[in-house]
Amino acid sequence: MKYIDPHIHMVSRTTDDYQRMAQAGCVAVTEPAFWAGFDRSSVQGFFDYFRQLTDSEPKRASHYGIQHFTWLCINPKEADDPIFAREVIDIIPDFLEKPNVLGIGEIGLNKNTKNELKILEEQIALADKFNQLILVHTPHLEDKLKGTRLIMDAIKRNGNIDPGKVLIDHVEEHTVEAVLDQGYWAGMTLYPDSKCTPQRATDIIEMYGSERLWINSAGDWGHSDPLAVPKTHVEMLRRGHTKSSIEQISYTNPAKFLSQSQRFNINDE
Ligand SMILES: [Zn+2]
Repeated sequence: MKYIDPHIHMVSRTTDDYQRMAQAGCVAVTEPAFWAGFDRSSVQGFFDYFRQLTDSEPKRASHYGIQHFTWLCINPKEADDPIFAREVIDIIPDFLEKPNVLGIGEIGLNKNTKNELKILEEQIALADKFNQLILVHTPHLEDKLKGTRLIMDAIKRNGNIDPGKVLIDHVEEHTVEAVLDQGYWAGMTLYPDSKCTPQRATDIIEMYGSERLWINSAGDWGHSDPLAVPKTHVEMLRRGHTKSSIEQISYTNPAKFLSQSQRFNINDE
């Protein structure tokens, strides 16, 4: 069954992963800019990372018949030093002109600090200025609900952002309702055996429906599973969900949200 993985960090994955994803039906990925597992020592580190996301990674994906799109930002984990964060923000506008860039992301909060919040607001303003979609990272564990609320408040404070052009990722049972109620899109990040598993994601779909909701693997350099989306298909089929409702959550919905950027065009039909 064809699908889009709208949040996966392919720079950290092998060519075997691309191959297996293509065999499982993946036709496109979108890759948000994130923490690489270590702090970059200079703005040049981000410059080269953005070149990788906008130039070399799309070429690597194309060898497997997978379209590659990306999002740019300074991630919340490295945003606690505002002077450094602003140097990174300054180099983003030039990269927004690259053909595979869909928007600003994954921005958000990590430890909900004042500096993180300030840089989050500045990156929301950047998305507003350049009319970009936004992909939001929410903190894990006990900070998630508080962080999600702080982020939604920051977006509202900006005043110009249409919630329909913002996807809030890493939602769980206790945050999904608030996100959807305020008109945002919500993403469920699937993890192999903790947090949101394919079973829990299917529970959430059964409780809240599948409007404005997508699933993604967020595969990266840590313990994660680039095939989490097709594994969720199997779980949904096992529970009697129809092929069209499975296609909605993992193809039609992401395509609908992402198509609000003119850069997003799937050429698989
Ligand atoms: Zn991520």
